[in-house]
Amino acid sequence: TRDQRWEMRVTALGDGRRIVHLIDRTGSYASERIRVDFVANASHELRTPLASLLGYVETLEDGASEDPGIRKRFLKIMHDEARRMQRLIDDLISLSRIEAEKYRAPDNPVAMDELIDEVCLELSGAPRAADVVTEIAETEPVRGDASQLSQLLHNVIGNAMKYGREGTPILVSLTPEGESMVRLTVTDQGEGIAPEHLPRLTERFYRVDSGRSRTLGGTGLGLAIVKHIVERHRGRFDIASTVGKGSTVTVLLPVHRLS
Ligand code: ADP
Repeated sequence: TRDQRWEMRVTALGDGRRIVHLIDRTGSYASERIRVDFVANASHELRTPLASLLGYVETLEDGASEDPGIRKRFLKIMHDEARRMQRLIDDLISLSRIEAEKYRAPDNPVAMDELIDEVCLELSGAPRAADVVTEIAETEPVRGDASQLSQLLHNVIGNAMKYGREGTPILVSLTPEGESMVRLTVTDQGEGIAPEHLPRLTERFYRVDSGRSRTLGGTGLGLAIVKHIVERHRGRFDIASTVGKGSTVTVLLPVHRLS
């Protein structure tokens, strides 16, 4: 096919015959393309707020700073743009750290119920904070890295707040899944996601509606980070959604057992 990449190597046998080796390099070409796209996307995402910041600085230097009303308005916009760059850089650093550690499985016992309470408390001050209803069954601690699991909860519950319908609660549940896993679900009553987008949501910078994501302070990296954290924890991730009704994110994580 068009996306298939082959490398050809020829070995001469000395008697006039040759062996032709065809090596399938499709995988490494694809990952190289993903890497190149990622660098291009990240640079573009950083360049936009930076250009806007520079534009405002120059306008202020050209005399706009004389007017206290304009100065105040411009400084607020500049602050927001700088914050946006900061969020993006923080997410880029998280992603590269998690990726760097991907072959080292985390090994601490983490009580998910306590972590859920902590994250909900932290998010209660967020701009689109919503009521969170928790249904927590007794579960064993998971085998993990508490700070990464906290980030996972932040991103998933944060998305439910960002994309949920205002005034509706978010349901967070924690239950045992068989003998060896714990099941976490986060359900919102937002606009939902059309089925064609679902398989791509964990790609870096993939957004259903970029304008909306940016207005809500999204970087487009939240679910890519979640996917990497789940993989590092040898867990599973799934997102199910009905347009007009809402979405449910499910994460399965292995429990920690001292043997
Ligand atoms: P972002 O920073 O844009 O929120 P994410 O990686 O967290 O990036 O999510 C990717 C995209 O998936 C979002 O831009 C949004 O379009 C969609 N999405 C994520 N969670 C939800 C949700 N709970 N309801 C509806 N859409 C969602």
